[in-house]
Amino acid sequence: MTLKIANHIAAIPASPTLSLSARVKALQAEGKDIIDLSAGEPDFPLPQPFAEGIINALKAGHTTYPPVMGISKLREAVANDLYKRHDLSFTSDNILISTGAKQPLALIFQALLNPNDRVILPTPFWVSYADQIRLCHAEPEFVTCTAEDHYKLTPTRLEQALQKNARAVLFCSPSNPSGAVYTRDEWQALAHILRNTPDTAIILDQIYDQLVYDGHKSVSLLTVAPDLVDRTIIIDGVSKAYAATGLRLGWAAGPKEIIKAMGNIQGHTTSGACAIIQHGAYAMLQSLERETILQEMLTAYQRRRNNFIHDLQSVSALKVFKPEGAFYLWCDISGLLKPSRLDDKDFAAQLLQEQGVAVVPGSAFGAPNHIRMHFATSDTILKSAASRIAVFCGG
Ligand code: PMP
Ligand code: GLU
Repeated sequence: MTLKIANHIAAIPASPTLSLSARVKALQAEGKDIIDLSAGEPDFPLPQPFAEGIINALKAGHTTYPPVMGISKLREAVANDLYKRHDLSFTSDNILISTGAKQPLALIFQALLNPNDRVILPTPFWVSYADQIRLCHAEPEFVTCTAEDHYKLTPTRLEQALQKNARAVLFCSPSNPSGAVYTRDEWQALAHILRNTPDTAIILDQIYDQLVYDGHKSVSLLTVAPDLVDRTIIIDGVSKAYAATGLRLGWAAGPKEIIKAMGNIQGHTTSGACAIIQHGAYAMLQSLERETILQEMLTAYQRRRNNFIHDLQSVSALKVFKPEGAFYLWCDISGLLKPSRLDDKDFAAQLLQEQGVAVVPGSAFGAPNHIRMHFATSDTILKSAASRIAVFCGG
């Protein structure tokens, strides 16, 4: 007899980015020469202040259950950081510390959604949003964002989507997978539309917002439209900006009632996030070296982005979108698919098989005819990836 999985769970696939990356690691372990541009994670070591914070916490014996909502000094530091960087006035009561940024996202959906509720997802969207919504018996409402609109949601499309009574709308800026970043003016125009539906919650995934290039700074919707604060929840964490993907620490900032409800679920499921990592994150946020450390990584990412785009220019049928933030190259491959009659999944599978380059097919992000490649790896590896891709594409 095989145990029956609950219907709505049986329909949920594994995370496409994480499963592809696991497959690539297995192939590499077999000795295959593979360049892995699938799951995006920084290749920098954990910054020293973070590591020292963890070691000190361990030595001080911070190994018992932490408070469910997070240790108070970290909650305060996160609130202060949102004030410093985005001029937002949160207190620690507005902050929930969780295990990675994935957990608070899942908790928001659990806390907000009733069965059959809808959440507007500007598409392309990051891989886990849609399935996290489905796990709550609710439905994603995909709204296509075109290359002409720089893969961003326009006010007109938002207005149309909101007519169907969405419970929430989610924005990711800088975007995974496209790297598009909403400007102050674009936020203002979207806020104008959002004001017409006061019951719609707004989720802002800002996990890449310290990784913005060309001297620009990321702007938060809430800075531009502070009147939306009572229904907006911000997500962030240490994974990307502080090269700490394996430490699993993230947070949410939002109205006290929803933060409390999310905390209640967390208390019944995982309890508070790992105590020593919380102390490490606190040390990182407070560190005087923080800006310098970030700047060094940002300089490297920007150089890698520019060189990778330059090296891919020989493949003229590959339409590369220049990302303003995050560390992904989002490419329209329709010009390459048409003659070969492949789809984006076949393209990615054959590229892996024939040239040993792992990329994520666009359909994982709701946008077939695209691929996503991360550039959080060395200049040498990216150069080699570009030339293998050129050989594969005959460019
Ligand atoms: N949001 C986005 C847009 C992401 O790319 C990721 C991937 N790491 C997450 C949330 C989840 O972050 P974490 O690894 O901290 O759980
Ligand atoms: N967020 C990264 C990505 O999209 C890491 C993998 C994951 O968590 O999905 O590649």
